[in-house]
Parts: sequence; structure tokens; C-alpha cells
Amino acid sequence: MDNAATTFVDSRVIDAMLPYFSEEWANPGGNYYTSKRAKAAVNNAKEVIAEIIGAKPSEIYFTSGGTESDNMAIKGIYYGNSPYRNHLITSAIEHKAVLSTCNYLKNQGASVTVLPVDHNGFVSVQMLNRAINRRTSLVSVMMANNEIGTIEDIKAIADVCNKHGVYCHTDAVQCFGHIPINVNNLGIDMMSISSHKLHGPKGVGAIYIKEGTKIHPIIHGGGQENGLRSGTENVAGIVGLMAAAKLAADNMENDYKYCFRLRNYLADELKAAFPDCKINGPDPTIDGNGLKRLPGNLNVSFGSMNGATLVSKLSERGICTSSGSACSQSKKGPSHVLTAIGLDSHMASSALRISLDTTNTYQEVDYLVTSLKEIL
Ligand code: PLP
Repeated sequence: MDNAATTFVDSRVIDAMLPYFSEEWANPGGNYYTSKRAKAAVNNAKEVIAEIIGAKPSEIYFTSGGTESDNMAIKGIYYGNSPYRNHLITSAIEHKAVLSTCNYLKNQGASVTVLPVDHNGFVSVQMLNRAINRRTSLVSVMMANNEIGTIEDIKAIADVCNKHGVYCHTDAVQCFGHIPINVNNLGIDMMSISSHKLHGPKGVGAIYIKEGTKIHPIIHGGGQENGLRSGTENVAGIVGLMAAAKLAADNMENDYKYCFRLRNYLADELKAAFPDCKINGPDPTIDGNGLKRLPGNLNVSFGSMNGATLVSKLSERGICTSSGSACSQSKKGPSHVLTAIGLDSHMASSALRISLDTTNTYQEVDYLVTSLKEIL
């Protein structure tokens, strides 16, 4: 029940990848027939992913995952547009791949505005509008939050950016493959995706970069990916990402409905069992709110036990959950996301994140609720 941290690789994805470890192992940069086949596989993956998000194949660049894509967007725009346009805007609930990158650039001379969010994790478009100035080059606001599942109004955010001529990047790592995304309809310039959140392999991702974007590479070398991301392409990984994206797109409607209902069932059961618990992020037990957060995501504070202790007690019963994001488990102190939505440190430290997938069952949810009753 920690599918926001990562997902298993679908056997159909593995099948699609296998030939690229054995027969089709050539370097896509070569000039002979086997290389051309490897290159064709990479190009085909660009076409498939581009079609899913409404982009052009030439606007898709493969990376090593969400973290690299976020770094590439933020550092790439900063290096391509500073020193004059050195102002970056982001939100308080971003993943560390965005926040730490902005902080790093701050030490190099960037001016960074971190927008606060409301009690459900939403960025205010009015506040964003006021924060943009003549030196702003980039706004980076995530499409869906990894801890509380809040789905931001990226179209409204991109509209403000376009009005001011400012680049708009969104980290869609948690929602690509789970909710429909069309980059043109949204009006964004860049979008980060990662394969391992949708049953693809780890260590591969992509970034959509709109044609004409003034961006510098952050990895230099052999000039692959149109000079923007050097390094021999991870052909098997790229094929895996493509296969996972295709499966996710084909099954999205049913998968969405299943996870949505299972999550709402869990929320109802928890509220019945623990009337004082607090659902963090848009409360799906309130009409219309379920649509405002990722379908399988629930984040609950019980107040009575530390989240890390709860996670370990659930683990003893064979249940895998988390008390924050996977990457912040080792970090001391309450989650920056929960603090940003206004939780005091006691409630923020007692949060449990449950992220469900289509392979989770109603029986498993019942077992979780029973276990929580016994533990708490
Ligand atoms: N951004 C978000 C919102 C995430 O949830 C994650 C992973 O947890 C990342 C970025 C980093 O992605 P990756 O693990 O592919 O580097």
C-alpha cells in the first residue's frame, strides 16, 4: 500500500524490454543496421509518449527519472536565462527534487519565491500572479503531490505564466499514467515524468520540453537527445517506460475508477473507526473532493501515535505504508508538505500515507483497518 513510492514492473513491460538486453543491444548512435534498429526503438518510444500527452516526438527527452527531469528543467532554464532573468517561483509542497534544486541555485545567485499553499495544498493563482516580476524566468508547480495527492489547477497556473511570458514547468511524476494529461490543452512548457510510478522500470524517465524553449543542457557529452541530454540511451529502460505508458493510457479509465472507489471505501471505514482522525489534503468523503486528489492516495493523521512507529507496526503485520514520501523517510522532523498545509508538528508527525493500486483489494483494506484498530 505504498505505490506512491514505487510500483512493481508489469510482466508485459518486462517482456517488451527483454529483447533490448539480448538481441537488440546495439548503441543507438551507431551507423549500422543493428544500431538503426535500437535508434528506431527510441524514436518509437518518443512517438508513443508524445501521442499520449499531445506533444511532438521531438519534444520528448529521455532521462534517468523524475529527479533528473526536475533538475534539467529548473537548472536548464536558469542557466539559459540568467543572469537577468534569475527569478524562480515554486511552491512549498514540491518534491525535494524541485525544492533542493531551487535552493542550490539560490546559492548560485538565483532569487527564489516559494509560494505557500492553502489547507488542502492548493497554490493560489492570484498569489502566483502577484509573485511574477520582470526577472522571473520559471514557475515550477507540481501537477499532483506525492504525500497528500492534491491535484493542482495547472491550466490556471500555466495561463498566468503565459500571460507574463514566463516558462511553466510541472512535475507530473505522481500522476502521469494515472490521470489524463494533454500538454497543449494545459499550455505548459515542460513536464517531468518517471517510469517507476506506473509499473515501468526504475532509473528511467522523460521530460517534455516545448519546441523553442530557451534551455541549456545540464549534462554534457556526446550530444545525444538533440544535445540536451548526453549519454548513451538506456534503450531497454526507454522501451519499458513506453510500454508502461501505453498500458497505463489504455487502462486508465478502469484503473482510475477502481482506485478511486477503493480509496473512498478506505476513507469511509477509517472515519467510522476513528471519528477524530484528520484526512490531510482534499477530504474524499466530502462530495466532489475525491476528484481533487490522486485516485489511490489517502493521507491520515491519527494524533495518537507517531507515523514512523505506526508504519513499523503495520510492517510487522505485512502491510507496507509510509509516514511521508519514500525519499524523506530517513529525514528527521515532520513532513514539509504537512507543515505547509498548516498541521502542527504533533499532527504532522502522526500521519500515515496509504497509496493504493489496482492490485490492492477490498480485503486488504479491511485488514489494514482492523490492524489499525488493534494497534491504535
Ligand atoms: N517528483 C515527485 C513528485 C516524486 O514523487 C518523485 C519520486 O518519488 C520524484 C519527483 C523523483 O522521481 P525519481 O524517483 O524517478 O527520481
